[in-house]
Amino acid sequence: MANRIPDELIDQIQKSADIVDVVGEYVQLKKQGRNHFGLCPFHGEKSPSFSVSHDKQIYHCFGCGAGGNVFSFLMQIEGLSFVEAAGSLADRLNIELPDHLHSAQPKDANSDDEKMIEAHELLKKFYHHLLVNTKEGQEALDYLTGRGFDKETIDQFEIGYSLDSWDFAAKFLTKRGYSPEMMERAGLLVKKNNSDSYLDRFRNRVMFPILDHTGRTIAFSGRVLGKEQPKFLNSPETPIFNKSKVLYNFHQARVHIRKNQQAVLFEGFADVISAVRSNVPNAIATMGTSLTDAQAKIIKRNAGDVIICYDSDSAGLEATLRASRTLAAAGCKMRVAALPHGTDPDDYIRTHGAEKFRQDVIGASITLMAFKMQMFRKGKNLHDEGQRLQYIEDIVRELSLLDNPVEIELYLKQLSEEFSLSMDVLKSRVLDQKGSRQREPKKEQAAPAPPKTETRIPQQKRLLKAFHNAERLLIAHMLRNKEIAQKVLDRVGLQFNIEEHRAIITYLYAYYEEGFEANVSSFLRRLPDHKLHQVVSDIAMLSVNEEISERELSDYIKQVLNHQNWLMIKEKESEKHDAERKKDFVKAAGIAMEIIKLKQSLK
Ligand SMILES: [Zn+2]
Repeated sequence: MANRIPDELIDQIQKSADIVDVVGEYVQLKKQGRNHFGLCPFHGEKSPSFSVSHDKQIYHCFGCGAGGNVFSFLMQIEGLSFVEAAGSLADRLNIELPDHLHSAQPKDANSDDEKMIEAHELLKKFYHHLLVNTKEGQEALDYLTGRGFDKETIDQFEIGYSLDSWDFAAKFLTKRGYSPEMMERAGLLVKKNNSDSYLDRFRNRVMFPILDHTGRTIAFSGRVLGKEQPKFLNSPETPIFNKSKVLYNFHQARVHIRKNQQAVLFEGFADVISAVRSNVPNAIATMGTSLTDAQAKIIKRNAGDVIICYDSDSAGLEATLRASRTLAAAGCKMRVAALPHGTDPDDYIRTHGAEKFRQDVIGASITLMAFKMQMFRKGKNLHDEGQRLQYIEDIVRELSLLDNPVEIELYLKQLSEEFSLSMDVLKSRVLDQKGSRQREPKKEQAAPAPPKTETRIPQQKRLLKAFHNAERLLIAHMLRNKEIAQKVLDRVGLQFNIEEHRAIITYLYAYYEEGFEANVSSFLRRLPDHKLHQVVSDIAMLSVNEEISERELSDYIKQVLNHQNWLMIKEKESEKHDAERKKDFVKAAGIAMEIIKLKQSLK
């Protein structure tokens, strides 16, 4: 490959990057002993089996086996090539790559994407300039100021204004070398019917840029200034804008979401901007669609708790229930921030102010179950016996879906007190419901579906045979110490019994031969077979003593070398039994002699 980044630079990147920081951007990590643990981003799990070692600069998941160094992590989680992963690390670390590498990075497949993003960035800056500095933008600026937007917010969200012109953006972009066909695919231009000319998609609108999770502009939402419809016009789905994966404001909110261990989810970006203005910085929103599984997973990677703050009309309430199911499936815990009926967060903040929003809405959020109880109560006359029974049944059904007995007890108590019912009766109703659901597992429940769990079953930590363990422990020591590797090479050569182990030590011998020092992360970089990365990271995570005694070393080596002999002995023993069953005692005696010889040869 002509565009390889020189090894010295890769070394520099590898030495400067800390895998704990890099992984920490995607996974909440907790330090436990020498390692950091968190929920694996590569498979769904509820208890952490994903570990990261600062000392060794590697990660490994004991659930799904994923593992490797800082480069493999970025490659795996962002879908990057090695060179792209190295380039992205260099960017983060402010390590200068030679110029030809920037242009030569193998972005061929994605170079259209890069161009589309560039065009969005350029337009965003220009729209912003038009809004804040020109008389053409004055009306838009007045509109925003009238809605309570201050200069700081306009700058923070890089809000802009698109001119009242049919082809301003079209000319602006073509003049800078962007092909109109590509800009049409990027959603910025639209092709005029029966003609080769292109028009601007956004005209005379207040422009809200939509950024991806790394802060690159990938789309716009434009709010109309005049009377035209639609009020909000969004970029269509494009190669760079996938609504079902993007959460508005996520790139700015991520650090606050992690710090607070909580995200506040809104329905629209206007709500998010208002919330951030009200000092709720962990605010995010979907882009006018229901929350998707992919978005819920992104949230879950960063925080376990979510407050849902949707509109309080009936569509908003329905959407709250839907989002809560999706979040539950991703393993999140939810609360609901309820607004007075018929209002949305943006309205509420403008009418009541930031302080009241933080305290009376976000601060007064209720559990999902309490929210559902309010929902079931709506429109029912609880003095009417039939409606009262219906209400109680609704709640019992919901409660039977909960796992937490304390929570169930708490709400049953409320019911029992409010309607003077006996706790025993209520409890047995919940149990009946739970039982009938187990008996009919396929029947669709009217109530929220139980969380979908990922089907991948974590590899059970197998009880390994002695020789298998011995090989793993030997490799663990060989990875840490060049001299041990040399000793094993002298005494065992390539005679490991497990095929993957044989491959690993072959690469490892070669690695040391080339003069490299012991360093797992650096070894992984030079290990071409990615299946082996998982095995190596798994072994490297074994906790072994820094030093290995000669006696320990010999023991392991014996186990490895003797395994072949033991296999042979076993085979002979069954041949011998066979011969004995057939009453061929001469043959059996001969085999017995061979067995004795084999046993003597055991080291
Ligand atoms: Zn995993």
